[in-house]
Amino acid sequence: MKSIYDMSYKQMEDWAESKGWKKFRVQQIFRWLYKERVEDFDAMTNLSKETRAELKKDFNFNPLTLVRKQESKDGTTKFLFRTEDNHLLESVMMVFDYGNSICVSSQVGCNMGCAFCASGLTKKSRNLTSAEMTAQVMHVQKALDAKGERLSHIVVMGTGEPFDNYDNVLNFIQTVNHDRGLAIGSRHITISTSGIVPKIRTFAEGHYQYNLAISLHAPNDELRTQIMPVNKAYPLKELMSAVEYYTSLNNRRLTFEYILLKGVNDSLEQARELARLLRPYCCYVNLIPYNSVDEHGFQSTTREEAMKFYDILKKEGIAVTIRKEHGSDIDAACGQLRIKEMKKEDALRLLSQKEETSGIPGKDPEIENVYDSEYAEDDMPASEPSEPADACKVK
Ligand code: SAH
Ligand code: SF4
Repeated sequence: MKSIYDMSYKQMEDWAESKGWKKFRVQQIFRWLYKERVEDFDAMTNLSKETRAELKKDFNFNPLTLVRKQESKDGTTKFLFRTEDNHLLESVMMVFDYGNSICVSSQVGCNMGCAFCASGLTKKSRNLTSAEMTAQVMHVQKALDAKGERLSHIVVMGTGEPFDNYDNVLNFIQTVNHDRGLAIGSRHITISTSGIVPKIRTFAEGHYQYNLAISLHAPNDELRTQIMPVNKAYPLKELMSAVEYYTSLNNRRLTFEYILLKGVNDSLEQARELARLLRPYCCYVNLIPYNSVDEHGFQSTTREEAMKFYDILKKEGIAVTIRKEHGSDIDAACGQLRIKEMKKEDALRLLSQKEETSGIPGKDPEIENVYDSEYAEDDMPASEPSEPADACKVK
């Protein structure tokens, strides 16, 4: 059965119309869902019993169950969820001086295979539904309700490639952005893509006010192809042409994300090369401290070296920021908590198999190694919206 969170306002109106209902009823339903934030049709007390019965016939509620929550000293909170078909996914809530921001996952795993990323360690099992993305936001908003606070920003920068799940992501965003939904402002919503060119073009043609961020991470094709296989399909020339198309249609500045990987993409010559590549475009660069992933072996650039890289870009006239780190005392960037939980569950499965055969619980060294890494200290930036996303002067 479909979750009611799957329905955008427009889709709900169409559904109501098919029942011969007045549009006003959709206003009431959305109010219960997104302002009162109830999770039971019977709590919608100004709807008749018959209306509620019709809703119950077609929809259920929250498709995600909270498995674990980890809160950092600085307020960063990770939420690990389980889907109805038993997949794990995660969201991160971060506290900034301009408000509370959530980093939403868009897929279970990711097929893009970036060499540095925890999410790419597991192949995509499936796209998340629009409801599963909305539910991440609703869970976090409800946690904030307890403190009388609200979510003000959304970044689609968790596990998954949002432009490989384009329709569901756009549907989800429309729901949370809608005045009668959570009413999170368009300019407070950012979608990050690894660079799926045809979808950047489709997105450009939508004339949305949402922010677009592109994960660049290398100043030339050779290196980018090595660390981001997507570059084989859509090399920089095509990517930059899509960027140009986007700015020409939208009059908006986009953000390039650039993780600093020690000895890989962080030399001063590479900074100059990056400046040369980006100078013609209306953009910001967001330099991201790398959050190490046990399995990959990349290391983060030191703060000192990062500052030198930053200075060069600045001197070359590129608008640049360095992302602030958040939640350094909890499990790092989006994707990592999920991987750790999966390892733990695998370990538990292995353990119970071994127990069945050997009868010696917890004595398998292979399993203990997996456990050891579970709460390893990571220092993380999760994701930060690219603020502010000013208009560009169209040339
Ligand atoms: N798939 C999309 C969105 C999810 S990843 C994309 O790639 O843009 C969001 C951002 O986090 C990307 O810029 C990604 O490169 C970055 N990222 C991935 N792994 C990271 C890590 N271990 N440390 C820091 N940033 C990471
Ligand atoms: Fe997928 Fe983005 Fe991770 Fe690349 S960086 S593997 S596209 S989630």
